[in-house]
Amino acid sequence: MSHSPSEENYLKSIYKLLEQGRNRVTTNELGRILHTKAPSVTDMIKKLHKKGYVEYTPYYGVSFTEKGRLRAKEIVRKHRLWETFLVETLQLPCETVHDIAEQLEHVHSEELIDALDRFLNHPETDPHGQFIPKK
Ligand SMILES: [Zn+2]
Repeated sequence: MSHSPSEENYLKSIYKLLEQGRNRVTTNELGRILHTKAPSVTDMIKKLHKKGYVEYTPYYGVSFTEKGRLRAKEIVRKHRLWETFLVETLQLPCETVHDIAEQLEHVHSEELIDALDRFLNHPETDPHGQFIPKK
C-alpha cells in the first residue's frame, strides 16, 4: 500500500497533538496546523478512517486506531532520527533540519531507518529535546 506525503502529514499531526496527553483532536485544529480548509480535512479524515487508521465522530473529533497510532509513530520516529543525524553527524544548524527531515521522513526503508538508529546509537531524544519513539 502506498502512503502519500499528505496522508502521512495528517497522521503525524494527529500524533503530535495526541502526544501532549489528549485522546482526540478536532478537524478544526488539524485544519489550522496543516493550513487546510475544513472540507478537505474532513475528506482526508474519512479516507484515513476507511483505511483503518482513525476513529472519527463528526463534531467530536479524531482519534487513532492501534494501526494508525503505530503508522504515525513510525513517521515521527523517522523524522526525529533524521533530525538527530543532520545535527549530530552532518552538523547542520538546528533551525534548518526540520524542513529537511520533513522530506526525508517520507523515504520508506525500514532497513535504512534501523541502520540510522544503530549508527546514532539509539538516541532517546532529537536535537529539539523531543522524545524519539522506539520501534
Ligand atoms: Zn522537526
